[in-house]
Amino acid sequence: LEDPSFWKDHNVQVIIRVRPLNSTEVSLQGNNRCVRQDSCQSITWTGHPESRFTFDLVADEYVSQEKLFKVAGVPMVDNCVSGYNSCMFAYGQTGSGKTHTMLGDIEGGTRRHSVNCGMTPRVFEYLFSKIQKEKEARREEKLQFTCKCSFLEIYNEQILDLLDPSSVNLQIREDLKKGVYVENLTEFEVTSARDVLQQLLEGAANRKVASTNMNRASSRSHSVFTCVIESKWESQGITHHRFSRLNLVDLAGSERQKSSGAEGERLKEATNINKSLSTLGLVIMNLVGISNKKALHVPYRDSKLTFLLQDSLGGNSKTIIIANISPSNCCAFETLSTLKFAQRAKFI
Ligand code: ADP
Ligand code: MG
Repeated sequence: LEDPSFWKDHNVQVIIRVRPLNSTEVSLQGNNRCVRQDSCQSITWTGHPESRFTFDLVADEYVSQEKLFKVAGVPMVDNCVSGYNSCMFAYGQTGSGKTHTMLGDIEGGTRRHSVNCGMTPRVFEYLFSKIQKEKEARREEKLQFTCKCSFLEIYNEQILDLLDPSSVNLQIREDLKKGVYVENLTEFEVTSARDVLQQLLEGAANRKVASTNMNRASSRSHSVFTCVIESKWESQGITHHRFSRLNLVDLAGSERQKSSGAEGERLKEATNINKSLSTLGLVIMNLVGISNKKALHVPYRDSKLTFLLQDSLGGNSKTIIIANISPSNCCAFETLSTLKFAQRAKFI
């Protein structure tokens, strides 16, 4: 699993994560599954017609949070500390395991306390230990790091600051020096994984309140946790600066949003989710295409999500998609649709 050549030649990596069957699925469909794993890179959808898919990694239900972090999180942090941007997306229908993958069980603190602790807390624990080592190794250069985090939600193409719930409809701006940024978004400096966890919990609580007040499920919004890593060092009398961004995105549920029969807010919601996920798919397909030397129009501006992440998708940035699926027959069609989305992100 821990293949050191994971990122070689590819800036986009696609991982499938199959969660265990849950008790509802077992009571409805027993052990009947809609997928069969062929190898650690290949999975077959067993409906009609059978379809086989190949990915960078297929993680079955026995792949632990720790293992997934080692495969996907470690190279992502290494990349960011080297000065490149990274994005990790959790894709999949509601209930497929996106939040389990990205956050997992965080109530109990960092991973020392819980084996179910997910990607984000592990990423930051590793980031800070890596920063410490780098600083020690390059003491002569007076290497310093500053990490600033923000946490936002995109719902109905509107941006909400999860660390300042009084904010409404924040705007994306572009600046020659700063690149793409969200105006008036709260940024807080963090120096430990504990600091990050604190903000994650606060943001998650605000997200719950916001969704209750607005009478909607959080499964219909995207959440984006971003850390800007700035490093500064001296060599030959010159001060050098470097910035990189690490983005961790828990996407809205990918289940087909029924627009037939829906009206008003629900219809707008459905249209916006479909639009932003399909734009993300297009942007990623085009990235894969560009690395194959096909210059295509990249429709970043077609959704808030891709516009916001534009500097972190493409160029030397690394992108990881973790597509989460249920193996149950109950979810056969949504699972097929997720496998197809993930496949499009891999090959053009
Ligand atoms: P989503 O965020 O995609 O809606 P969740 O992450 O909330 O889905 O997962 C739904 C339920 O399934 C949760 O109770 C979660 O703990 C459980 N679950 C998801 N993935 C796994 C997994 N790989 N192993 C064990 N439980 C999981
Ligand atoms: Mg979720």
